Order: sequence, then C-alpha cells, then structure tokens
Amino acid sequence: MADHYNYYELKHFAGIVADAMGIALPESYAPTIGWLSEILRGRLGGTADRAVLYHADAVGMHIWQKYTPLFAPVYAHTSLAVPFLSTVESVTPVAHASMYTGLDPAEHGIQTYVRPQLTCDTLFDVWLREGRRVAIVAQKDSTFLHIFAGRDLEYYECENAVAVQEKSLELIGTDRYDAISIHTFDYDNAAHAYGPESKEALNAVSLEAEGFHRLAEALEKTRGAHRTLLTYSPDHGQHPVMGGRGAHGSKQTEDMNILHFFAAI
Ligand SMILES: [Zn+2]
Repeated sequence: MADHYNYYELKHFAGIVADAMGIALPESYAPTIGWLSEILRGRLGGTADRAVLYHADAVGMHIWQKYTPLFAPVYAHTSLAVPFLSTVESVTPVAHASMYTGLDPAEHGIQTYVRPQLTCDTLFDVWLREGRRVAIVAQKDSTFLHIFAGRDLEYYECENAVAVQEKSLELIGTDRYDAISIHTFDYDNAAHAYGPESKEALNAVSLEAEGFHRLAEALEKTRGAHRTLLTYSPDHGQHPVMGGRGAHGSKQTEDMNILHFFAAI
C-alpha cells in the first residue's frame, strides 16, 4: 500500500484557533480552513471566549490507525478529527513554532531542533494584544517554555504529565484564563526510549488521553457560562529505529502524519 501525506499543513492551526475566537491574524499567516471554521463556529454557537489547546507530543496518526481504542477518551468529548501534516523537520520546536505563528519554518526561522525565543508575532502575542489572559502549562524543559518565553503571560512548569494535568484542572476550575496551552511529552519520552508501539509508549498515550478527558469534563461543567474551543493537537509522530527505540525528524509518514481533534464546549 502506498504511503500518503495528509493534506493540511500544521501552520493553519493558529488561524483555526484565532478564527474560532473571532480574532484576526496578520495577513502573512496561513489562513484558517473555511469549512472547519464554519463547523466550529456553528457548534460553538458563535465565537469561543476561551481556548484550551492540549498538545500531546509525538502522537502520530499511525498510532491512532493501529490503536484506535486508546483514543476513546478523546472521542468522548470531541466532534471533529482532521488529519494534518507536520513540518520539515518533524521535530517539536519547528512544528510548534509553525502551529503558533501560522508560518513556514523558513519564515519563523526555526528549521531544526533549536529552541531560541521566537521574536516574530505568535498567537500568544495576538491573544495578549486582544487583552486575553493567557497561560502555558508544560512539562519541565518543554519547548513551549523556550520558544514562547518572554511574553507577558503566565508560565507553569510542572514535573510530569500528571502534574501538568492537575495544574491545568486547577486553572480551569478557578477560571483565570481565556487561553491555556498545555504541553505534555510522556508519550514522546517513552517512544524514544522503548519504541513508538511499546507497552510503555502506548500506556503514555492512554495517560495523556485520560488527562484530556479530565480537562474536557472540567470544561463541560461550565458549559453555558463559556463557549470553549478545546483541541487535542500533536506536533509530529515517531517511527521505530534499531534497538527497539523511536525517533522522529524525518519525512516518513509515521513522523509527518498526525490527527487533530476539536471540541466545542
Ligand atoms: Zn514533539
């Protein structure tokens, strides 16, 4: 069977989120996807006043294809699943920079695994200009804490994925933010160490999906008081390499093809 690349590039992510919140992005940025925005706005019943963006690192589309039941906790709360194509290189800072700037790697400048603080306009800067209250909740040494550093938002650095989930639940419970970006990489760590389809790695997919489920439940409790866009949005996948380990960064479909889920709560 031939391999195929997914149709939509990751750089549309910022536009999709901004449009769902009724915010315009700079014209140089990749636009939203019209039909997707229409569906999201319809399900939101207008524009979202809150966005919670969950980034489970390195969960490739082939994991969803081969282990679909692991995503049941994500399906429980989302109504749309859209395939996306990661960046070249398919590594965390390149992909997340494109997701949050709407730009190609050559335009935002991060083209390989380096983590400088981005100086170009990011979705975080757009939110802040709009007066939105913004937080990043991420695992220790997350790429988010490097490339999106230096903004007037709140950064929460947590020891592990469970601590990230607990902190995110607390912030949702106290209703302190209009936009929360959450980054965990337990799957990425386990897949690198033991292989993308190892027991350890698949357990991490479940742990992260379960965390997403808990976030969604917390958001659903305030349904009516808010219109919330919730997404499950990985950055790239992983492929197996010699020695039972995993890697990414290549143009292989295992690294490039990912699946994003969207919920209107
Ligand atoms: Zn990554």
